[in-house]
Amino acid sequence: MLLKVVLYGDPVLRTKASPIAEITPEIQKLAQDMIETMIAVNGVGLAGPQVGRSLRIFVIQEEIMGPNGEFSFKPPEVIINPVLSKPSSETQTGPEGCLSIPGIHVEVERPLRIHVRYQNLKGEFLEEDLDHFRARMFMHENDHLNGTLMIDRIPPNYRNKVDPFLRKIKSKVS
Ligand code: ZN
Repeated sequence: MLLKVVLYGDPVLRTKASPIAEITPEIQKLAQDMIETMIAVNGVGLAGPQVGRSLRIFVIQEEIMGPNGEFSFKPPEVIINPVLSKPSSETQTGPEGCLSIPGIHVEVERPLRIHVRYQNLKGEFLEEDLDHFRARMFMHENDHLNGTLMIDRIPPNYRNKVDPFLRKIKSKVS
């Protein structure tokens, strides 16, 4: 089932999401619907708050480049209760977009590497050292679980340039 993606201006995007205590059939269904929704809009990531569910869950599908330079997606993944740690002091600036802030792309500086511990849909605990684009995806989506958006992570003068576009999105919401 496709879910409605909430847009910038909706308070749920500014709310700290709650941990998922148990992976119930409802959570499994939510994860499946989030994956379907992400695929339908060609997104690379979608977090619970973005579909109006203030829960610590996100789905991603990592883009990979094939031998002939064509892009495809790796199988979608479900990330539950992620805990990020050990961000590298080395950073990287790269482009980001967000399904809740359509039409806007910003360059965001983030740590190049970070460690994550999370649960998959089976409830198993996994740990990974992330870098480059995968690290960026996890940090962008994890920010959503804390009510933080990519536009909070850009310098004020850059933010000023983006603000008129944000107001336009917000005016459609309220
Ligand atoms: Zn986003």
